[in-house]
Amino acid sequence: MTSLDSVAVFDGVSDLGARSLSWTGDSITAVGEPTGEAQYSVIPGLVDTHVHLLGYAGGRSNVRGFDTFTWPLVTIREEQTLHATANAQKAMRLGVTTLRDLGADETQAAIGRVFDAGILPGPRLLASGPVGMTAGHLDLFTPRAVTDRPPTADSPDACRALVRRWARAGLTGIKTYTSGGVLSMGDKVAWRNHTRAEIAATVDEAHALGMLVACHTHSAEGIQIALDEGMDSIEHGTGMTLDQAAVLARRGIPVAPTLLINDMIARAEVPVSDEAQSIAAALVSARDELLRGAAQAGVRFVLGTDANGYFLEFGDQWRELVRMVEVLGHSPAQALRAATSDAASAVGLGTSVGTIAPGFGADFLVMKGRPWQDVSLLDPDNIVAVVCRGQVVAGALPA
Ligand SMILES: [Zn+2]
Repeated sequence: MTSLDSVAVFDGVSDLGARSLSWTGDSITAVGEPTGEAQYSVIPGLVDTHVHLLGYAGGRSNVRGFDTFTWPLVTIREEQTLHATANAQKAMRLGVTTLRDLGADETQAAIGRVFDAGILPGPRLLASGPVGMTAGHLDLFTPRAVTDRPPTADSPDACRALVRRWARAGLTGIKTYTSGGVLSMGDKVAWRNHTRAEIAATVDEAHALGMLVACHTHSAEGIQIALDEGMDSIEHGTGMTLDQAAVLARRGIPVAPTLLINDMIARAEVPVSDEAQSIAAALVSARDELLRGAAQAGVRFVLGTDANGYFLEFGDQWRELVRMVEVLGHSPAQALRAATSDAASAVGLGTSVGTIAPGFGADFLVMKGRPWQDVSLLDPDNIVAVVCRGQVVAGALPA
């Protein structure tokens, strides 16, 4: 058993004051009476509900000779797998101890199994497989001249077959699309993706196999389809109406707003096409007021960044938290709850991680100050130690 004698604890929902914290292996065993003054604080490890691990892991400033579209075309899969593993480990060391990859295939499932088996240190990794149409948002990430393409599905039966392929590969969720997107080449946000019959088949098959369905959408029409067809989460959600916000709030459907990546593309802080920049600028100009209204209406926003190592690096999750405070009007405590206990329950892990309580997995961060009270402390520089699966994976526990 390992213990911290006295730390200020934010358990994922609220401030518990000074406590002692004990864990054995990968399990928190006690949150008890403190002995002495609490010099540091403890919060649960962050949970990012929306990432893409298969991306260049060397950092934005070292990118040479390729962009986010060409990197997968010029890099062999074995090498991509190592980058994905490095991205996941980097996230973990910067305090993000659970990730859900929403563009996964057999590779991310394999990496997750290697982490779970303790072969390599790594975060908890959930992998969701994409089910999209030809000329849909995902398909348009691969240039049209390329013939060896990721799979698409173009009928209800094809959608079911692709869900089954991902289930066989060990993936635990599905990602689907009800509108176009920002970065996809030749795409239009207003394009419908899939017919109702295809969407219904995807959701039915996924739920039959115990998989959550995450829905990419930027348009009010796309959000309506997601609501009508029983999707489990909304990704982006940029064009939601206030009526839809009320329904989302009432049903408690999680929304990952991916604020920072759209800001960066809209401001061309990362190399993007003029087309992508103008789409993002149009989305962002209307977004802040809309999403703030939605937050006031009680929409359940959770941490979801779209980090891919190239635009958003792993570790930029902290900057997204600050944007959630700024754009959504969240308090730092609300933002942290959205990034810990609530994000865990959004991905189906609400009873195993994201909360500091006996019986939960031992994923937590020892930090300076009380970051749930002060937005300026939502910064990886304030991390003293990262504990993931009960092991110290960055920094050192205070004596
Ligand atoms: Zn994404």
